[in-house]
Amino acid sequence: MANNSQKTSKIIKPAVILCRIVVGLTFLFSGFVKGVDPVGVAIKLKEYFVALGIDFLSPSSPLGSDFVATFSLTAAVALSLFEFVLGFAILFGSYRKLAPTLALITMLVMTPLTLYLAIENPVHDCGCFGEAVVLSNWQTFYKNLVLTAASIFLLLYNHKAVALYAKQMRSVPTLFSAIFLLSISVVSYMYQPILDFRPYKSGTNIREAMQQSDAQPEYIFIYEKDGEEREFAIDEIPMNDTLWRFVDRIERLPEGVKINETLDFYIYDNDTEISEDILMDENYSFMVLVPSIKDYDNSWDDKILSLYDYAFEHSYNFFVLTPESEEFSVRMNEMGISLPCYTMDETVIETIARGNPAIAMMKDGILYWKIAARDLIDITNYNTDIEGTPLAKIEEYNVNRRYIILATIYILPLIFLYLCQKAVAHFVEKARVRRRKLFATKRRESKTSCETEQQNITTNITEDSDNTNYKPKNFKTMRKNIVAGNWKMNKTLQEGVELAKGVETALNERTPNCDVIIGTPFIHLATIAATVDTKKLGVSAENCADKVSGAYTGEVSAAMVASTGAEYVILGHSERRAYYGETAEILKEKVLLALANNLKVIFCIGEVLEEREAGKEFEVVKAQIEESLFNLTAEDWNKIILAYEPVWAIGTGKTATAEQAQEMHAFIRKTVAEKYGEEVAEATSILYGGSCKPSNAKELFANKDVDGGLIGGASLDVEQFMGIVDAF
Ligand code: PEP
Repeated sequence: MANNSQKTSKIIKPAVILCRIVVGLTFLFSGFVKGVDPVGVAIKLKEYFVALGIDFLSPSSPLGSDFVATFSLTAAVALSLFEFVLGFAILFGSYRKLAPTLALITMLVMTPLTLYLAIENPVHDCGCFGEAVVLSNWQTFYKNLVLTAASIFLLLYNHKAVALYAKQMRSVPTLFSAIFLLSISVVSYMYQPILDFRPYKSGTNIREAMQQSDAQPEYIFIYEKDGEEREFAIDEIPMNDTLWRFVDRIERLPEGVKINETLDFYIYDNDTEISEDILMDENYSFMVLVPSIKDYDNSWDDKILSLYDYAFEHSYNFFVLTPESEEFSVRMNEMGISLPCYTMDETVIETIARGNPAIAMMKDGILYWKIAARDLIDITNYNTDIEGTPLAKIEEYNVNRRYIILATIYILPLIFLYLCQKAVAHFVEKARVRRRKLFATKRRESKTSCETEQQNITTNITEDSDNTNYKPKNFKTMRKNIVAGNWKMNKTLQEGVELAKGVETALNERTPNCDVIIGTPFIHLATIAATVDTKKLGVSAENCADKVSGAYTGEVSAAMVASTGAEYVILGHSERRAYYGETAEILKEKVLLALANNLKVIFCIGEVLEEREAGKEFEVVKAQIEESLFNLTAEDWNKIILAYEPVWAIGTGKTATAEQAQEMHAFIRKTVAEKYGEEVAEATSILYGGSCKPSNAKELFANKDVDGGLIGGASLDVEQFMGIVDAF
């Protein structure tokens, strides 16, 4: 069985990583290509609003076209940001529950929508990868099915693989991803898309591309006979063989012509098409692109008019392209300017260049450059011929180089952050080890007998009569913070191994500020101690016998526990005291045997409700410590961890308040100090136990004498347990 579960996890982990790559990269790419061209995505969204009959976002919306434009642009940026950051989180395993949940919600909305698009075909491509990759609506639907399945899988098993960035620092790369995406969106909006996936890239020979896209599609006929489908050209149709049954007719473009290369560069002067003349013209043609007169930004008119003067002076062509050429001419005439205005489709204008107005330059059918009007250089600097000026240069557009630059800008800081995380973890661990060694040396030096130390108490302790005011000299510098789980009688062997591995995996993703221990039933001990790295995750038994060995059927000795590789044993738990009659005397024996076998003891103490109500809690706790532990030497005490567990708070959901816990912990430390001296008391970790949860752990652990927790119920769930570990 254990083998089976190991095998399963061997399959699940690579599957999780594969799903992270598939879903994460898809979202990341989808967000990126949208972020690169927010205006293009906004145009696509407007198409959707019309196709889906969303009236208040249609061009004739009562809210006005400005509202629709702003809404579409904001939605485009928000969508790309959401997809990109989600893609990052999924790819690198951050936010392991939230990220697949959001991915799944997205897919549950998108998949039925794309099924509708595939069936009804109201828009011919969904635009999910902007204009970078054009998928048919059916392809998009199948892609979404795969992503939905992978998101469900991640939702179930994402915790099986580690995250690249620890929980404490994951917000930094997440924020960086958001800033990166927003920056490219802003730059692409202000200037032109950093990556141009449209057919009108600078350097394109529009004339040649038009000739290609004018190519007529070939009709292919599909017939079926005896279960076999075959394609026929129109003149090959098997008319004479009636067994062939017609199935479908498809259109296919000639080889080498891709559908997204189709150009609609049609220009009209009134009703006459003049595209050919313009495309054939060997002179320089400056084109002012105005997709809509209403939104036309006239702040750049001076620059445009100086360009016009320059073109006029040097006999270059200069004209305006707009869907509303007549209105534009009238407007210009009113301003005393006479510019040739030709008609072109709004979408084509917007596809050529972003900006209203934008300027483009063409010669001999080749598109030299295109810019938003605000980026037009000051032409008054060039009173010479255009040759030799930047205006006569074809803008260099190397898509691969741009991809590499953008990927470097994004990936290098992520690598840097990862290395920082590793370095910090390394130094923290080193510092911790150094501190422990230092303390061990100090203890060895100052080791004296219990009696001598007791004499020191009077001189060492600075105390008030009030228990809460015990004042240690070096608060929390000498002792360890510990979070220890107590699984009690829960989990089969296989479930226990899974849980332990889950805790270990989660620990590997963080640099906890405390030691972490899991207390397991005997049956799990050997397997778990051999499975996990016990240097990172301590393993504890929940009990051991009060006898060395022999005819004690059903008992497990301290030596047996130690032989499994476990380092700790929980003793004196209230459930053992109450249900198995463990007295102070029995516990004293167990502690001695545990220590003799080199086990560290997590010793539980705590009062029942009636004792607290009778105001006897300090008396009871003190007696529990004195009767089972105060026979130990100061050196032995080194291996004792105390766990104050008010019995009324165990498994009841009732937690001691932070003040109650601190008051009792200070009292316990004072009691230890009175016996062993301040330094020993200072070095003793005192844990709190009793309905400790992620929600109250921080408040409890913030107290100066609370050094962690012994956790029952919440230790049976990785997330909850880690929530408590993270409280430090
Ligand atoms: C315990 O039994 O040690 C304990 C603290 O339990 P819980 O956290 O479930 O109250």
